[in-house]
Amino acid sequence: MAVENWVAKEVAELTEFRRDLHMNPELLYDVTRTAQKVAEALRAAGVDEVHEGVGQTGVVGVIQGQGNGSGRMIGLRADMDALPIIEETGAPYASQTPGKMHACGHDGHTTMLLGAARHLAESRAFDGTVIVIFQPAEEGGAGARAMIEDGLFTRWPCDEVYAMHNRPNLPVGQFTINSGPIMGSVDELKITITGRGGHAARPEQTIDPLPIAGALLQAVQTLTSRNMDPIDSAVISLCTIQAGNAFNVIPQDLTMTGTVRTLREEVRDMIEMRLETMVGNIAAAYGAVGTLEYTRHYPVTVNHERETELAAMAAQEVAGIENVHLDMPQTLGGEDFSFMLNEVPGAMINVGNGPSAGLHHPRYDFNDEVIAWGSSYWTTLVRQRLPLT
Ligand SMILES: [Zn+2]
Ligand SMILES: [Zn+2]
Repeated sequence: MAVENWVAKEVAELTEFRRDLHMNPELLYDVTRTAQKVAEALRAAGVDEVHEGVGQTGVVGVIQGQGNGSGRMIGLRADMDALPIIEETGAPYASQTPGKMHACGHDGHTTMLLGAARHLAESRAFDGTVIVIFQPAEEGGAGARAMIEDGLFTRWPCDEVYAMHNRPNLPVGQFTINSGPIMGSVDELKITITGRGGHAARPEQTIDPLPIAGALLQAVQTLTSRNMDPIDSAVISLCTIQAGNAFNVIPQDLTMTGTVRTLREEVRDMIEMRLETMVGNIAAAYGAVGTLEYTRHYPVTVNHERETELAAMAAQEVAGIENVHLDMPQTLGGEDFSFMLNEVPGAMINVGNGPSAGLHHPRYDFNDEVIAWGSSYWTTLVRQRLPLT
């Protein structure tokens, strides 16, 4: 019970690797430097095959175990991209690119998986094949989907797939996980109301889109309070309104944008359908035209039950039973790993980042003490899932 011995001698080097990524954050699919660093490190570690450019800038490493009697294959996934945030950590290794920052710890995720890959390539003490997956564009770009569409699971048909995210304010050395829906679907909506513009003193000659927006703002909230089973969870947030540019002119059009989050695909379908009806009909009631553009980004992230137990078992071996919590709270934040979980059974676990600012905060930083725990989790998981007979 503790981190694995091999990690101790690697931690300094891995910390250096993590801080180099932190200094050089890249956004979405533009993770070319990061992907190159990862690919170089995998080759240097003697990983059997390194494939670059999977899903534009994703990297896949293939590591064969000593035994291959099992014929089994498991996928381990990390994300590589940063966020458009101005860093305020004041760290000596802070971002060197103003406006870009590793504020979600993906620098740490990449490093922990790389650490595990290096060890697995050296020891080979498992029976089967391990695929290490480094994806671009987790933060809103659906990089996981891009990798899947580029044949990720047809070229490497994994039996199981796992991911890990750090969790601020969970103590270092602790893990948390839960099965079922753990994170929300993420959708974007844009409502356009087209009325008739005119003089502010002659409203009878216009169709003013503003009161329609007022009616809609109130009405959409009844979708969660009146149309949804109260035991279900969802949120509809309308976050921007744009209309008009003069104090004495009634504008012709108005647009609103917002997001819908749910924990069940059926609820998601219901909200999309009802929104469509509401926008069109409420606008029509006032004599205007209302249209809804509804864009589905990420599906609900659903941890599979069996793989959740298996992930917890690996974490328990690393951290001790008392340090693995099986009651990870659900959130309506989204996670791109959901696309992979819709293809292959698997689970995402959270690892404690210790006291820290929240994810996406300008003072957030990945805690380097977590590297040993995360890398140990990965190698333990492989040893347990692909045991040598
Ligand atoms: Zn994030
Ligand atoms: Zn993240």
